[in-house]
Order: sequence, then structure tokens, then C-alpha cells
Amino acid sequence: MTTFDLEAAKKHLLYTGIVISPVKVVKALGTYLTDSDGRRILDFTSGQRSSLLGHSHPEIVDAVKKQIETVDHLHSTMIAEPVVDLVLRLARLLPPPLEKTLLLNTGSESVEAAIKLAKAYTGKFEVIALTASYHGQTSSASSATFSKYRNTGLPCMPGQLVLPAPYAYGSPFQKNGVYDWEAEFNYGWSLIDRQTVGSLAAFVIEPILSGGGILELPKGYLTRLSVECKKRGIVLIVDEAQTGIGRTGKMFAFQEEEGFVPDILLLSKTLGCGVPLAALVTSAEIEKGTRRSVFYWNTTHQNDPLTAAVGSKTLEIVERDGLCQNSAERGAQLTQGLLRLQEKYGDWIGDTRGRGLLQGLELNSVPGAKITAKDLGAAVVDKALAGGLSCSVVPSPAQGSVIRLVPPITVSAQEIDEAIRILDESLGAVLV
Ligand code: PMP
Repeated sequence: MTTFDLEAAKKHLLYTGIVISPVKVVKALGTYLTDSDGRRILDFTSGQRSSLLGHSHPEIVDAVKKQIETVDHLHSTMIAEPVVDLVLRLARLLPPPLEKTLLLNTGSESVEAAIKLAKAYTGKFEVIALTASYHGQTSSASSATFSKYRNTGLPCMPGQLVLPAPYAYGSPFQKNGVYDWEAEFNYGWSLIDRQTVGSLAAFVIEPILSGGGILELPKGYLTRLSVECKKRGIVLIVDEAQTGIGRTGKMFAFQEEEGFVPDILLLSKTLGCGVPLAALVTSAEIEKGTRRSVFYWNTTHQNDPLTAAVGSKTLEIVERDGLCQNSAERGAQLTQGLLRLQEKYGDWIGDTRGRGLLQGLELNSVPGAKITAKDLGAAVVDKALAGGLSCSVVPSPAQGSVIRLVPPITVSAQEIDEAIRILDESLGAVLV
């Protein structure tokens, strides 16, 4: 079995706050990783939530090979076939007026571009995001990030405002088991209206707040938000980095809300299926009203043929193989499995939530127990990895932690059962 010197690499890898795992992955194929000891590990993180079709899907490998052998990369004034194919596919899949696409590389870049575009369109500069949001690491994207991944050591962009994220499980607006999200929402907007300097440009939102603890927007939320944004001339940006392309059981998660269409849609992780690709999609009206002095965009790999070929192939496979349906069905199976764990570990698991193949278990702190919910999440994830399941833990808006499960949408029923079995054993081992 091949291996590599992890310790030597660690001496030369810049520490960014991410602790490098001791697992040496030497192969990644489908839903499995293989380590240097030949051990197989189920990947319920899809890498960074990106390997939508599993690792090294043979048709994706083929698409990359073919593209790099024909047209690899061009000057930004030149367009190659996969770019044409991808923008046409997106225009066909999306409702009007979403028809104008810019292909980019990362989620952060797409958020940065969308906020800049909204500023150029409105001539204003204030940006609103939710309290549990995650939108990336570049200046505007990290300013619009309010989950516990927020950098607090630097000032953010001027004009950054915040609305409470809907969090049914832990909200003070929850009374006798009923969550009055509209009361919280209206209160939030009354604060926005008092704080704004009259320059509201954009609202950026995830359909399921993943890094913020797998928070689902209540039914009707996006429609209500769209009304508030329209009233104030705010551009509504929906960031589907994690939820796009079948992950939640629909091609785009915003389609869960009937009749709702964002002003700007952002796709990234899942569209690239493991390679750095993102897309910003908007309307001809926004394009037309954009001040060029504010929005000129020209980055090295925008509208790049190589990654566009992957995006195109990803969409083709998801549609052809009915993978939105697999996501919904395997998602329902995952929910059932997680609910069984919630029943079994009673006091420790407070909530099971998410949709399709983006789900989480919220862990509670149990009064008098030796381990807190925060430590429990990390301990269970470590145990699971040792038992052959890679999953991750994200902070919840309350004090606890959420075990996040995000398998590829090609996952099988047997792999879901296997993951639940390992999670069960891991919870059992940590809670002895
Ligand atoms: N938006 C969302 C919703 C994300 O989940 C992420 C990444 N976790 C980003 C933006 C940033 O994407 P990237 O890491 O590709 O810059």
C-alpha cells in the first residue's frame, strides 16, 4: 500500500486553524476513502460537501481527461464549448428570469462577486445576513458570516447588518412547542430598519444553514423575505454552495418554496463535484442595471473550460440518473435512522434536522454529566472515524454541537445503514 510522510508535510503546511487528520488517504473512490493501512472509510462529508457524485466518478474523470487534452484554458475573452454547454443547461434548469451566468471558482468568490454586483446594481452598500450564516473567507463573504466560524479579530466591511437565523429548536420565540418564526422575523426587520443608514443593497442567505448547525428555513420564509427585500429595493442572493444540484432532493433547494425565485443564485461546491467551480446566475435586468464602474470582473479562471466540463457532466449525470430522487429517498432513510438514534440516546440528542442528504443531529448537554455537548460531538466523530465513518461536527447556535452527515447523492441504502450502525456504536462507546 502506498503512503506518504504526513509529519514532514505538517512542517511545511501553514496552520489555518484546521487540525490535519492523522488518517492518510491514499485512494478516494465512490462513497469510500481508503487509508494507507488499506482500511475503508465511508465518506459522509463528501470531502468539503463537494464530491456530490462520490469520489472520482468515472464519467467525471473522463470529462477532465478529454477537456485537458482538447482546450485546457483560454484568455478571458474566449469561450470554449463546455462553457456554452453549462450556461445553457443552467438556463434550461432554472426558472426565469435567471438566465445570465458567470462561472467562477469558489463559494467565497461567488459571494464576493454577488455582493459586488448587488452594490453595482443598487448603488448602495449595506448587506444583511443571518446570525448563523456561513458565506466564505474573502472580505465581503466573511463579513456576511455570523456563525461561530466568524473571524472576530478584524473589522468587517462597512454596512454589515444581521437578522436572527430561524432556529426552531433553541429559539426564545419557541413557546409550548410552537415556534413563532414570523414574530422573530418581524422583530429582526424592525431592528434592521432602525440600524440602516438608508443604503440597503443585498441580503445573502443559505436555504439550509449548514455551518451554522443545519438550520432549515421554515416554510414560507423565503417568500416573506422576498417581500421585505422588494419593499426596500434589496437584491436577494441565495447561496446554494451546499444545497444546490440535488443535495436536498430537488435540483435547487430554493425550489422547495413554491413560486420563489432569487435575484441572484450562487452555486459552488456541489456543481464542481470535487473541482473548484462556482456559478453566479442572475437576470438580464440586473445585468442591464449594473454600473460598470463598480462591477468589472475578470479573474484568471472565470468561464474556464476545464472546470465547466465537470459542471456540465455533473448536471447531465444528476438529471439522467434521477439522483434528486435518490437524494430524497436515501435522505428519508437517513432521517429514519437518525430518529432511531434520537430515541435510543434520549437526553443526549435534542433534535434531528435537515433535508435530503444534508442532515444533522443536535447534541444536548446533560446536567451533571461528565461530558458537554460540545465535547461529545467531537468525541463521537473521532470514534466514528476509528470505526470507519468520516463525518463532521459543527457548532449549534445554542451551546451544543451538531453531527453533520453529508454523503454523496449516489449513496446506496446499504451505505446509509452502515453509517447509522457505526454512529450508533460510536455514541454507545462514548456514552458508556
Ligand atoms: N457559502 C456556503 C453556504 C458555504 O458552505 C461555503 C463553504 N463552506 C462557502 C460559501 C464558501 O465556499 P468556499 O469554501 O468554496 O470558498
